[in-house]
Amino acid sequence: MYCCENCFKDRFLINKIRNNNIIDSCDYCYEDGVKVIKVDDLADVFAIFIPYYEKLEHGEHFIHEVHDPVDIGEFLYDLIQHEWMIFSAGIEGQTAKSLLTDIMLSLNSEYSEADLYVKAAEAVYFESTLEVWDNFSEELKHGNRFFPSKGYIAENIVNILKENNHIIPQSAIFYRGRIGKHIIDNMGAPPNEIASPGRANPRGISYLYASPQRKTCVAELRPYKSAVITLVEMTAKRQLKFVSLNTGRALISPFQFNGNLLEATETLSLYQKLVFELSKPVSPDNSEIDYLPTQYLSELIKNEGFDGFMFKSSLGPGDNYVIFNEKNVDLNSVEFCKIDEIQYTVHQSF
Ligand SMILES: [Zn+2]
Repeated sequence: MYCCENCFKDRFLINKIRNNNIIDSCDYCYEDGVKVIKVDDLADVFAIFIPYYEKLEHGEHFIHEVHDPVDIGEFLYDLIQHEWMIFSAGIEGQTAKSLLTDIMLSLNSEYSEADLYVKAAEAVYFESTLEVWDNFSEELKHGNRFFPSKGYIAENIVNILKENNHIIPQSAIFYRGRIGKHIIDNMGAPPNEIASPGRANPRGISYLYASPQRKTCVAELRPYKSAVITLVEMTAKRQLKFVSLNTGRALISPFQFNGNLLEATETLSLYQKLVFELSKPVSPDNSEIDYLPTQYLSELIKNEGFDGFMFKSSLGPGDNYVIFNEKNVDLNSVEFCKIDEIQYTVHQSF
């Protein structure tokens, strides 16, 4: 039985099928003349799900007399597709379910698609997202600053980063803002000696914070009404290799983490929390060491040879850019603007 690249949404699997280099017709979506792979050849890859999802067992996950297993477990297909979105929309449903069954049968001849499963991660030993975050940030602040003890975290985050690269074309335009009137020579990144710490940069290491939208740039400054702002227009001197940080799950393949899905999901929830923290405005209530976790993420990105990264602004409508080396941009011109009006929306929080 053959399945094809169109059967999947997962990029790792699509690449694997393309590299397999066999063209035939697909036994699942019935597409002709497509790159295919033998279902059995995907068994090794899908084996990562075996320790991650446990078959529902009486006495271990539920008690017959007390629980209805349907309330506790789910079909393996539903669990996998919901969490990882592996199968393409074209075959989602019964066809994808049959394909998964055939793959699982080649791993275990007793597999049945009618069996119910639970996520092993819901067992007691699994740390919640909050615990993962607390332990990680505590370790960076008060334990090991540069080499956290869980070595797989850095390795797995790097895998996520590589999946999310984004090219900023040469001559792309973006802006940086400062409150007050400034000449163009003072509109680049602050000198290293006076660089104050931010969510991305530690004290003494200066990065260029920018945005492709003027409005986002202004919002990020959190200006007061009638403030005068200098905006500098900049262009990329060359193509810039960025990482696009996002909290979405669709871009993450479960197959890219060296086989340990429990470590992978732990890293994934930490990564999502790091990206969320990165987009929060710098607050006077935070002390310098509160920024260590996001600075760590930024350092990992730089160490992988990227020129910078982008993430959604929490204050403006667009993205924020962090550029590690300002020599990669030209400062073109400055304009001055005045804040006419600031809009607030509030909600009652206590
Ligand atoms: Zn197909």
